[in-house]
Amino acid sequence: MIVKSPENSYDIVIAGGGMVGATFAITVSKALKKAGLKILVVEAFEPSTVDPNAASFDSRSTALSFGSKEILNDSSIWVELSNKAEPIREIVISDKGRFGTARITCKEQNLEALGYVVENKDLGLILNNRLTRSESIHYFTPATIRDAAPRKSGMNLKISNGSDSHLVRSNLLVLADGGKSPICDQLGIVRVRQNYNQHAIVCNVAFEKAHRGMAFERFTETGPLAVLPLRNFKNENRCSVVWSVNEQESDKFLKLNQEALLRELQGQFGQRLGRIKKLGELHCFPLGLSIAKEQIRPSIVLLGNVAHTLHPVAGQGMNLALRDMEALVKSIEKGIKEGSNCGEMRVLQRYLENQSVDQHQVITFTDNLVKLFSSNSMSKVMTRKLGLLSLELFPGLKKSFAKQAMGIGWGG
Ligand SMILES: Cc1cc2nc3c(=O)[nH]c(=O)nc-3n(C[C@H](O)[C@H](O)[C@H](O)COP(=O)(O)OP(=O)(O)OC[C@H]3O[C@@H](n4cnc5c(N)ncnc54)[C@H](O)[C@@H]3O)c2cc1C
Repeated sequence: MIVKSPENSYDIVIAGGGMVGATFAITVSKALKKAGLKILVVEAFEPSTVDPNAASFDSRSTALSFGSKEILNDSSIWVELSNKAEPIREIVISDKGRFGTARITCKEQNLEALGYVVENKDLGLILNNRLTRSESIHYFTPATIRDAAPRKSGMNLKISNGSDSHLVRSNLLVLADGGKSPICDQLGIVRVRQNYNQHAIVCNVAFEKAHRGMAFERFTETGPLAVLPLRNFKNENRCSVVWSVNEQESDKFLKLNQEALLRELQGQFGQRLGRIKKLGELHCFPLGLSIAKEQIRPSIVLLGNVAHTLHPVAGQGMNLALRDMEALVKSIEKGIKEGSNCGEMRVLQRYLENQSVDQHQVITFTDNLVKLFSSNSMSKVMTRKLGLLSLELFPGLKKSFAKQAMGIGWGG
């Protein structure tokens, strides 16, 4: 429920009501309903009231794995999201201008879908509504956590909304405040960053032909180009485009007029889905890798982009964050049964121990993929060529690589 001002003390305060913070709040409150935890979500921006039917042409989308679908199902978020999610029925991986294409279909894998694409604003709207309607979660927005200081057992937080300031105590502070996180800086939590000198150009497009559930990962000389199927809207064959290009190239593309950009994109993607008939508004995101050196401290845990921001080439950020979130909820649940407070180090340590291998694998896979597919050096071109060929020759390899490259590999 929306609160006009927070209470003095909570079991869990979540900084950030973005995709990760909001999902965590809903999941933990459902899983620990009997424990009656007091939960506060503090979000800097007012909830979106945008009608999802109004502007379905300009937004970011997220490819979710089966595992992520299951996690959202357990939190009863999927029940509302499912009719907005477009199933991925086939994945096509290719290297532009070079021989070699790998395909994976749900039919050959005997699955209903290989994964699902959801539009962030659809998910955002559902999450906002759930936080607003929830009787057990206090939702304080627009409000910002300005200061976080450890106390004997828990955290003291200074939260401001407008000119008002509130002091709140919490047993556990969940930082889900995204890649910038001034709170981390204030607490001296160092994040190691690596700039890929690339930008993701993101837009929605409409093709002449229906996508029939096909998702494409195409490695072009300018960088990886992902085309994901979106649900049909007003009879448009909509797809979401994420095109990772180097910084100079992105400046050039962003300055092009619609017609020239459309031509450029069509040239890179080819005619697989016919002519691109419509191009939505462009959004641009700088790409890098950022990993927090500490993800836990007594009464503090980092979740989502603040813990690890990844390149979107493998579409892993949200999928990994959901698995982290699920593991954290389980550890808190166990801790409460053992009589621990949810911010105790043994609860947080158990969570991190359970997730560290998964995190390491995903971060390494994504980083290697960026380096392999963003280079035109002869050795890397040969590796890609052999790689795509071996994917066709070895079905097991094809299955795992194709799913991982599209962000639906882990936990599926
Ligand atoms: C182009 C692109 C494509 C992607 N595609 C995929 C994909 O296909 N699959 C996938 O799994 N992942 C994908 N990702 C990654 C995914 O988008 C991120 O993992 C996810 O958005 C992280 O969400 P978050 O909640 O951690 O951070 P954010 O979305 O940044 O949310 C942080 C929230 O905290 C709030 N906040 C910040 N500071 C404060 C404060 N002090 N007080 C209160 N509130 C505060 C902010 O207002 C914001 O709402 C993609 C990313 C990009 C850039």
